[in-house]
Amino acid sequence: MRRVLVVEDEDSIRELIALNLHMAGYQVLEASTAERALALLAAGERCDAAVLDVMLPGMNGFSLCEAIRRDDSAIGIIILSAKSMEQDKIRGLSIGADDYMTKPFSVSELLARIEALCRRVNRGTMGAVSDDSRIVSGQFVLDQKSRVLYKAGTPIDLTQVEFQIMELFFQNPGTAMVREKILEGVWGENYFGDVKIVDVNIRRLRMKIEDEPSSPKHILTVWGYGYRWNG
Ligand code: CA
Repeated sequence: MRRVLVVEDEDSIRELIALNLHMAGYQVLEASTAERALALLAAGERCDAAVLDVMLPGMNGFSLCEAIRRDDSAIGIIILSAKSMEQDKIRGLSIGADDYMTKPFSVSELLARIEALCRRVNRGTMGAVSDDSRIVSGQFVLDQKSRVLYKAGTPIDLTQVEFQIMELFFQNPGTAMVREKILEGVWGENYFGDVKIVDVNIRRLRMKIEDEPSSPKHILTVWGYGYRWNG
């Protein structure tokens, strides 16, 4: 059964999310503080996805996101914030969140996004890829079975979203990919978010795989269009 961690200090909101997840067939772990959430995870409770409120007493949702990401690159993370400021959104995504929603939010949309994140995580663990699962591009090797990207033999730690973007690139080498196409390919056709989420993830990927992120040699910008992979 898929398991989701919900961290929110407002009882009514946390219970609403948990109730809807239960009804949709998920197992739910609830925590009203970041500290409690970390204790649950430290006790070995593995989750497929996590919904993290930003404004929490004590450690906030951003720090919690970073702490979770340090130990688990596969878990899907959605940041839930009362602030609709672009700054917050960029911050959330740049520290390892996969998605971002602002309050007030639609529970059905939140469920749809959790579902999408869990599908992604599951795809990684089910190993439904054939033995011929390694794609080589220059000094890079993308192992679709273990979901690991290697650069010159060294594994690079990627989130599920980052890995999926790399998959798209490796399957379309040298091809200019329009940002909307990347959004659709990774987040799904019914995703309502905007294409900025693509740019944020590309920026993060460049930090991880480029020798000089400010003058990228592998993930190239195609001005006014999108990105192109050069292995
Ligand atoms: Ca709160």
